[in-house]
Amino acid sequence: MANTEMNPVDLAGVEKLIEATDALVREALAVASKRTDGGKGIDNEQVHCERLAYAATEVRAARDLFAYAQDATANHSDPSIAAMAGLFAGEVALELRAQIEAHPAEFGLSDDRLNATLGSAELRTLIRGATADRAVSAIGRHIMEQRGVNHSWLSDDMASMTRDSVRQFAEAEVTPRAEHIHRHDDLVPDELIEKMGELGFFGMSVPEEYGGGDMGNLPMIITTEELSRCSLAAAGSLITRPEILTKALLKGGTDRQKQEWLPTIAAGQIMVGISVTEPDTGSDVAAVKCRADATELKGQTGYAINGAKAWCTFAGRANVLALLARTNPDPKSGARGLSLFIVPKDAFAGHEFEMRQPGGGMLHGKADRTPGYRGMHSFTLALDNYFVPAENLVGEAGGLNKGFYLQMAGFAAGRLQTGGRATGLSQAALERTAEYANDRKQFGQPIGSYQLTQHKLGRMATYVMAGRQLTYAAALAMDRDESIALEPAMAKLFASDVAVWVTQEGQLVHGGWGYAEEFPISRYVVDATVLPIFEGVKPILELKVIARQLLA
Ligand SMILES: Cc1cc2nc3c(=O)[nH]c(=O)nc-3n(C[C@H](O)[C@H](O)[C@H](O)COP(=O)(O)OP(=O)(O)OC[C@H]3O[C@@H](n4cnc5c(N)ncnc54)[C@H](O)[C@@H]3O)c2cc1C
Repeated sequence: MANTEMNPVDLAGVEKLIEATDALVREALAVASKRTDGGKGIDNEQVHCERLAYAATEVRAARDLFAYAQDATANHSDPSIAAMAGLFAGEVALELRAQIEAHPAEFGLSDDRLNATLGSAELRTLIRGATADRAVSAIGRHIMEQRGVNHSWLSDDMASMTRDSVRQFAEAEVTPRAEHIHRHDDLVPDELIEKMGELGFFGMSVPEEYGGGDMGNLPMIITTEELSRCSLAAAGSLITRPEILTKALLKGGTDRQKQEWLPTIAAGQIMVGISVTEPDTGSDVAAVKCRADATELKGQTGYAINGAKAWCTFAGRANVLALLARTNPDPKSGARGLSLFIVPKDAFAGHEFEMRQPGGGMLHGKADRTPGYRGMHSFTLALDNYFVPAENLVGEAGGLNKGFYLQMAGFAAGRLQTGGRATGLSQAALERTAEYANDRKQFGQPIGSYQLTQHKLGRMATYVMAGRQLTYAAALAMDRDESIALEPAMAKLFASDVAVWVTQEGQLVHGGWGYAEEFPISRYVVDATVLPIFEGVKPILELKVIARQLLA
């Protein structure tokens, strides 16, 4: 299809649509804020608050995609970007309108208000034009022509160079290993980690004074995206754990701790596991039970750690665990009784390990089998009088009982990373699907010549781009203010959902072959489903992070 077939899109109209949608969401947030006493009563209105958190996230994504479309069309000739911005804004507006119509009392918005805004003749015409079947199918044809490849315009030269070089690296080093690791549930090979370390992948956001590249969050996210495009588990997720510990150390570590740990993290010399979750404690992090009690071993002061942990990814291969434990034995102390420890251990291959310390401490780990996200293995851990020196308490004496807050700072960075991970995985699914739709013939024609396949590809590409721009905008926002939590949470929420949906749409376009292991789309589907679960399972992210902040 020639690009000229794409309808020209009036970006001023798209902006008007986003403004109207945003205004309604803001009005609804004000109503909900009042009803929940600034978010304190969210639990009495969970269903509606979840709905609002999602709507606000989608509006933010529509704004970020629109801003990108404005820049990109001024600098780059791809007409599909403006069409995507229009389509996404139109679908978000349609969804919000349907929600308000179904739940007017909860939204606190009358039919008159709705009719005067999204229901007005002008906006209805805009929505119809932006979401018209032929407009969406035209995007899909364009994507098929490009075989789905992401050449999206980047204003930042460093980000653009990073994308080119990491893409080349990942295609050469990760793609050839990805299927084998997935099907055999192998461990990521050390050789790959070493190469990534040499290229500085683990230290991109570590300040230069600690041996990092200090390149900021955007190149780091793009690195994660490109690695995840080749494999989520065997490469794309490797940077996340060091990044979480880095952010916790930068926020609350002592100078000595930063000097000791950050250079080795940046060089990829130590691998990190993050150990928060316990068998009986997941979302309610403040209820963590694993204990750390002050003790002394052969004249060295430290802590004896006792308890069980669950789902600690990469705990076998990791050289240290960033472990959250209770230092105030009174369970009523909740989040204010937890501390973050850097727990050293030996690196083990395989799915089970046991580490015995000379002083009698023991750490046992056994990996739980999972359908996807293979390559790093996620372990259930048992700690029995495992000794950790006092100097490994993050923040040392000043960090006692501050672990929850340091962990949350780390999680914000982790969520931003997950926006990048999800976008890379979605991108991979889009490319494989565009290729398949070009190559596969049924009823005498490529399946991509059918209107419905084109329409599917058009929507898939649009949502992948919306997730990408939301994540990039969150990365830049975090460069400006490290303490933000809302934007990374929104990026994680939306991009993860996109990954689940786009991989499953892609699988359908592959028909039966989408279910066969030999087609990577089947791996993408099982990998994607973990994304809305970790770092705050979707409902908790919506209620306890996003809604809470929006309503405060
Ligand atoms: C493959 C994998 C890797 C992981 N890696 C790590 C890791 O490296 N380190 C780590 O610490 N953890 C890790 N996790 C754990 C992950 O972070 C937790 O699974 C997640 O936080 C959810 O906790 P949970 O599983 O205990 O679910 P729960 O907290 O039991 O929640 C289950 C469901 O209950 C509902 N629910 C719970 N509370 C509420 C509420 N207040 N209001 C409304 N609904 C509610 C929600 O629907 C929620 O989805 C990993 C998990 C997986 C699957």
